[in-house]
Amino acid sequence: MLIIFGVKDKATTTETGTFHCPVCQSSQRFERKTMKRYFSLFFIPLIPLGGGPGSVVQCQNCGTQLPPDITRRG
Ligand SMILES: [Zn+2]
Repeated sequence: MLIIFGVKDKATTTETGTFHCPVCQSSQRFERKTMKRYFSLFFIPLIPLGGGPGSVVQCQNCGTQLPPDITRRG
């Protein structure tokens, strides 16, 4: 039997709100997405491994992904 396993990054939306988007240069809605790294078996994420790329803030107007601390500035 062939066993397919690997590592998969899964994004979860952990926060929504409004912030000042530097690309739109106006107040926009954002979603904070936390990327978590999972051990996956047959393409199904099973075991959280910790680490991973961390979180990003995505502007819901222009779709630009920004550093996670951007909502705390200014
Ligand atoms: Zn924007």
